Amino acid sequence: MQPESDTLQRFVFEHANVRGELIQLDRTLSEVLGRRTYPDPVARLVGEALAAAGLLSSILKFKGSLILQIQGEGALRMLVASASHEQEVRAVARLGEEEITDAPLRELCANGYLAITIDPDDSDDRYQGIVPLETERLNAAVEGYFDQSEQLPTRVWLACDGERAAGLLMQRLPGDAGEDADAWNRAEHLAATITEEELLQLGAREIIGRLFHEEDIRLFEPSRVRFHCHCSRERLAGVLQGLGYAEARDVLDEQGQIEATCEFCGTTYRFDPVDVEQLFSEGGIAPPGPTQH
Ligand SMILES: [Zn+2]
Repeated sequence: MQPESDTLQRFVFEHANVRGELIQLDRTLSEVLGRRTYPDPVARLVGEALAAAGLLSSILKFKGSLILQIQGEGALRMLVASASHEQEVRAVARLGEEEITDAPLRELCANGYLAITIDPDDSDDRYQGIVPLETERLNAAVEGYFDQSEQLPTRVWLACDGERAAGLLMQRLPGDAGEDADAWNRAEHLAATITEEELLQLGAREIIGRLFHEEDIRLFEPSRVRFHCHCSRERLAGVLQGLGYAEARDVLDEQGQIEATCEFCGTTYRFDPVDVEQLFSEGGIAPPGPTQH
């Protein structure tokens, strides 16, 4: 039986400060991969990034998005995956000229870094943490982000076979460990026995049951994860304003209109000369950049 998918399953260890998240994606992944053709290693990485963004969206304490971004100089230039507080996810990758191989992440994305940004909907106050990409796999880079930003001890496992993507996150919560001081240690070791096949093929409850069968676990109602692109004409207009009036005029002179296509979902927004004049007469201000704390 194919397990239920496109869900985020939360769970906690009763009487201990340990929580977990398990994400499994299939339709969501095919929606993302169906919009572009990627070489296999990149498609798998897009799936892992999508799963990671979905897992990390659980740390959002307000309405907004979590954006996971990889940038580098190798065959993979850029990969962005984002998830909203409602578990709406999307992802896109951009490739360089070099041939894509099954190389470790640090080589595929040479001199690269991983940035994780938390972007609240109703405030410009973004939080961003950046770590160099020195690891073989994405999960280790994400763990590095948690280590470096002195957040809660967190372990992450990710897998993608091109058709399904999945991830497991274990986190030690703050506070007194109480009577069960060894719980985090056990949780980490038990979770580490998961294989990629199990993560991709078994149902969420079965995985949690198998890994932690001797633990007292409380499962929450699973949340739905779905592909949704929150691009809009306004956002693309903001990008145009960022380019500047002169550049926009050049494109208009050449092509009569400006077509801006969202990389995530492929929607094209068109701006004619009147739109462009209006955009810049309204005092074109580029959207605020990320601030680093
Ligand atoms: Zn879009």
